[in-house]
Amino acid sequence: MKKFFITTPIYYPNARPHVGSAYTTIVCDVLARYKRMCGYDVAFLTGTDEHGEKLERAAAAAGLSPREFVAEKRELFIELWKKLGIDNLRFVYTDQPDHITSVQRMLKLAQKNAPGIIYKGQYQGRYCVSDERYISDGSEPADCDICGRPAELISEENYFFRLSAFQERLLKLYEDHPEFVQPSYRMNEVKSFVKGGLRDISVSRRRIKWGIPWPDDPEQVFYVWYDALTSYLTGIGYAQGENGGPDFQKYWLHTDGPGEVVHMIGKDILRFHAVYWPAFLLAAGLPLPKTIFAHGWIYYEQDKMSKSKGNVVYPEPIIRALESFGAPGNDALRYYLLREAPFGQDTSFSYDGLIQRYNSDLANDLGNLANRTTTMLNRYCGGAVPLLRREERFEQDQRVTESAKSHTVACRDFFDRYDLSRSLDQWWEFIGELNKYLVVNEPWAVAAAQRSLDQSAPARLASHRRDAILYTAAEALRFSAVMLYPVLPRSAESLWTQLGCEEYLGKIENQRFDQLKWGDLKSGTRVGKPEPIFPRLDKAATLAKLEELAEAERERDKPMVGALREAPLQANLAEADRERDKPKEALKSVQTEKKPEAVPTPAPESRTPNPESRVPTPAQISIEDFAKVEMRTGEIKAAERVPGATKLLKLQVDIGSEVRQVVAGIAEHYEPDKLIGMKVVVVVNLQPRKLRGVESNGMIVAASIGEEGRPVLVTFEEDVPNGARLK
Ligand SMILES: [Zn+2]
Repeated sequence: MKKFFITTPIYYPNARPHVGSAYTTIVCDVLARYKRMCGYDVAFLTGTDEHGEKLERAAAAAGLSPREFVAEKRELFIELWKKLGIDNLRFVYTDQPDHITSVQRMLKLAQKNAPGIIYKGQYQGRYCVSDERYISDGSEPADCDICGRPAELISEENYFFRLSAFQERLLKLYEDHPEFVQPSYRMNEVKSFVKGGLRDISVSRRRIKWGIPWPDDPEQVFYVWYDALTSYLTGIGYAQGENGGPDFQKYWLHTDGPGEVVHMIGKDILRFHAVYWPAFLLAAGLPLPKTIFAHGWIYYEQDKMSKSKGNVVYPEPIIRALESFGAPGNDALRYYLLREAPFGQDTSFSYDGLIQRYNSDLANDLGNLANRTTTMLNRYCGGAVPLLRREERFEQDQRVTESAKSHTVACRDFFDRYDLSRSLDQWWEFIGELNKYLVVNEPWAVAAAQRSLDQSAPARLASHRRDAILYTAAEALRFSAVMLYPVLPRSAESLWTQLGCEEYLGKIENQRFDQLKWGDLKSGTRVGKPEPIFPRLDKAATLAKLEELAEAERERDKPMVGALREAPLQANLAEADRERDKPKEALKSVQTEKKPEAVPTPAPESRTPNPESRVPTPAQISIEDFAKVEMRTGEIKAAERVPGATKLLKLQVDIGSEVRQVVAGIAEHYEPDKLIGMKVVVVVNLQPRKLRGVESNGMIVAASIGEEGRPVLVTFEEDVPNGARLK
């Protein structure tokens, strides 16, 4: 059996996953399902990229250790994939213990196979001493993006990877394997970048603590490149045994037969995947992936998604909103994301567009076809698939059969080329033909004619004709269920069940495209009651619901206390590499190829430095925004440590109307006993959340002092009653 290994990038868990990260994961899920139905043995990997100073800092701000923090954030991703119905999934995270083995193993192989490929060199860069943060590479002056102060020029001994030695080999790779980078227009960008000359890259850092230790040098940790990219191998058991476990052998080394490895990524991290990653693998003497596919970004109504604009789109409320009207939310979202734009290019997301697509393509074209057909099977054929009499087949029936076959071929062909929107176009063309076929052949009129003719010979003939038409329509629907299953798993399964196929053909996910044969629909099979698979959505009502749920979801994002400290954390990690990349603008051009007005946001967030990342300015808010934050005075009635969390205290706070449980990250600076009776300020309308499994219902306001962010609780000089509102 041929192997297929597909990966999403590992996501940077400094924020909740939005529709951008969901997009890549959905695409990979579609491809994984597709390849399984083509007869491949498939492994599908996603995960989280959990190291680096940005997460270390975010953890400190949340009063957690980095390990506790990333473990909490990781869950958000795992939960979302469950909600999106994405299964058969492997999950790798870079804080998992065997990842250390993987990364160090990759490095040692490079050192062994290619002496001199890793060397110690003098790294120069700008560094903010007070924020302990690398700002940029090279000596050009740069300001810290957190405190704004000019960053100091530092020089430290780091380890370098001799990327310059790989220029010729990489160019040959691109020449020999044009499919290595797709779409092809991105290959051109990669080629011209490499032709422009490669400089060695620094692959370790001395001043970052939260990372994988460099072997035999406790002063250094791996920088992002080796750490993040090697996760693709860890996820299939590279750390096991001497040469990797059985899955690594099977899916990466292809020891028991041929296979393909495909990395699906957003275009912003193309260089690291198409240049650094093959170089690391070549240095280690490991096989290369077959294809790096870089897709475009998702805009929200032509605009950048950002928290400060409050227009970040999350998948959960979309699904809930659609499902509240009986529509299959997951399938609708999947279909919309894949159909709307040619895969690879940027795409714009809007609720309006989603509803429109759903109503026209799913409810109207496919849904009506399915509903009409099963209704007629129930009404005219006693709720069963009619008999297919070869002699009753007319030319127009034969044309449908031929069309089903040719569209199956075309649909798969586009799928194999990752041209997902055109693959769907193809199938919808076929669905259009079918709807026309029913209108022209009027099985309902044939049925009426038959009833009036009663038991006569012409009546029999008419009923045979009607059977032929309905068999044709039902068989075409069975084909549609199979062909659309990768994109619409839930709805295709409903259709499959309605047609009664499972009983004699097995589960839909086990169907094979290459075994799909016209005429396999079994006459006499009971069909289900006609239930609309895609109920039509009322546009105004759905829009209102979408906005309402999306707004509630965005409320969770609003930064409260510590806003100023948190805001810079959302920025892309430094502008490391900015210097080095300056003379080679090739890959940057991808970011301005379309829609010059809009500023795109990378689909999945990553910590790979983005040459165009900008320093964020804390957004201003209106008085109305501020009024949304309800702060009240409270009195601490009880305080105790949270077991297993060094920084957390569990407090019971009397806010006048009730006693609230609040978890605060102040345990290192406040003794629980001394807090009893203290008057504090509580943000009371914050959504409850769990910290280390303990529910926290509100937030205590504190100043954050010094470099380490020591918390100092806000209190009052005068006696104030519990529950007084702060304005
Ligand atoms: Zn600073």
